[in-house]
Amino acid sequence: MLNTKTDLLGLPPDDVETALAEHFAARGQPSYRVEQVKKWVFEECVPAIAGMTNLPVAEREALDAKFSLLEPTADTVSRSSDGTVKHLWRLADGELIESVLIPTTNRLTLCISSQAGCAMGCTFCATGWAGFQRQLTSGEIVSQYRVSRRWALDNGYGRISNIVYMGMGEPLANRKALHPSLTILNQGYGVGARRITVSTVGVVPGILELADREEQFRLAISLHAPESELRSQLIPLEKRHSIEELMAALIRFDRAGGRRITFEYTMIRGINDALHLAPALADLAATVNAFVNLIPYNPIPYQDWTASRGERIEAFRSVLEARGVSVAVRVPRGRDIDAACGQLRATRMKPRDAADTDEVTHEAAGKGPQASAYTGEDPTETDLTKPRERPE
Ligand code: SF4
Repeated sequence: MLNTKTDLLGLPPDDVETALAEHFAARGQPSYRVEQVKKWVFEECVPAIAGMTNLPVAEREALDAKFSLLEPTADTVSRSSDGTVKHLWRLADGELIESVLIPTTNRLTLCISSQAGCAMGCTFCATGWAGFQRQLTSGEIVSQYRVSRRWALDNGYGRISNIVYMGMGEPLANRKALHPSLTILNQGYGVGARRITVSTVGVVPGILELADREEQFRLAISLHAPESELRSQLIPLEKRHSIEELMAALIRFDRAGGRRITFEYTMIRGINDALHLAPALADLAATVNAFVNLIPYNPIPYQDWTASRGERIEAFRSVLEARGVSVAVRVPRGRDIDAACGQLRATRMKPRDAADTDEVTHEAAGKGPQASAYTGEDPTETDLTKPRERPE
């Protein structure tokens, strides 16, 4: 059913304050009601207006008639043996999105989605294969934090310390919702800007907008290849925003000061792990003082690639370190629960849903000539076999 109320979860704190002040003034209520409600929304993360127990019942009912706290419901919760927890959330219109809680010794990171599906079509990504459904609203982005925060506290995981926009979707392709959501999480829920990372495959106008923001949100670039031709086979957006253009935007972002850039480099055996690529990667990283995460590829349905061998990943690490680049090999988390972006949703989708999103076409494409031509050999030793083209 269409929500005709104003969703308080999608408004920045200033707008919440304005809307509430008007509402309570019109009802002849004292102004402190505004702060009472804001506290319930941003500090207590109460799931329903009925739970705002220091408001008279009549005020709760009047508030409820005009405003909502629209949260998704949990469709599936999967816990990994390594502590990673993936939620598949069902939105009000039935769309499914994912978020992941990733505990480490000193932090609890929440990975959130910015779109239902994704239109970018990256060939290594389960979400990319399943196609785009729709943009999320700022409230739908923020509500993932609220429901995950409550779940984490209720289940002994503690407080969420960091947020990464690395779930389903390209956040910089949904800037209308991204920017308010950043403000809400930062100013409303008190998550420090340096603890929030926006991850992109290289939407240059969005990077420039982030550089112009005063807050020091962090930026992760899904680079995955340091050369344009190879990168365009993994990330179709490369054809629109080349590495050269991307680097120019990153230089500006870097010069804005105090904002760390991370390069994500998924290592796929025989595709992007040729040793000659490591110095090129190091050069790009050094240009913008980027930290590099080397990530062994997490296999997905529809794609028969595998992770680079451990010794190749270590060789990359050595080259980067020798050139003064900070680098880490990121241990994939939650492999036993399909925790890579889009995987749980892909496996959860019913056959009819799959047909609706052209997965059937992807399946067929996977058996096409380009896919079968891939030999698994190091591309330095054989012709680089192109990853599958996404069907139009
Ligand atoms: S890697 Fe990110 S941008 Fe690319 S298809 Fe997956 S979700 Fe979309």
